[in-house]
Amino acid sequence: MQAEPVLLAGLIEVCRATIAANSDRLCALDRAIGDGDHGTNMQRGCEAVSAEEATVSSLPLPDALERIGLTLVMSIGGAAGPLYGTLLMEMGRELRKSDQGQDFSSALKQAIDAVARRGRSHAGDKTLLDVLYPVQDALAHRSPLTDIVHRAELSAGFTAAMKAMRGRAAYLGERSIGHVDPGASSCALLTIAICRYLEEHRPA
Ligand code: ADP
Ligand code: MG
Repeated sequence: MQAEPVLLAGLIEVCRATIAANSDRLCALDRAIGDGDHGTNMQRGCEAVSAEEATVSSLPLPDALERIGLTLVMSIGGAAGPLYGTLLMEMGRELRKSDQGQDFSSALKQAIDAVARRGRSHAGDKTLLDVLYPVQDALAHRSPLTDIVHRAELSAGFTAAMKAMRGRAAYLGERSIGHVDPGASSCALLTIAICRYLEEHRPA
């Protein structure tokens, strides 16, 4: 499976720009229930991926995703680095198996399960998983991109009602309730940006 270089380059840029535009907001969410660095962590990761966009875009898609994942692990830091990194690296590995009938949504499911194992976390723990699983479910049901956007927005919002069970926010216990999880928010922002870009660049 060959990455479409122009599409991948566009997606890298749209993710970078989205995180840059929302970095302060993500830091504010993280200040409420964590240490206030999620926006800057994600921004560092996206800048690092952008810096190697030309190399990454020339790779077959599975290799490109693995490379992006590795860069994210090395550059984001904190808890989110290994988690976003695992997501992308596992997506790459799973898509490499696509010759054996692996489709995009089941590859994403395997990758999200790997993130959950890595974080020892589950759906409902108030983390980025609470956006990833609903988005994957919508993809598996072949929902239109506009519905996936809606699902991502809603599911990030739903984390406000949850009590954090993992990560720094878990130290707050009940006091984490009432705040949107920063990782869920970055995940929703990225999902929405990717869906909108794909909608605009859909082949005629
Ligand atoms: P740190 O907590 O090290 O400062 P970040 O602020 O960049 O890292 O990322 C925090 C986000 O990472 C949380 O909002 C949550 O979504 C996610 N997260 C943290 N720990 C876990 C975990 N064990 N499993 C899944 N997600 C987690
Ligand atoms: Mg933090």
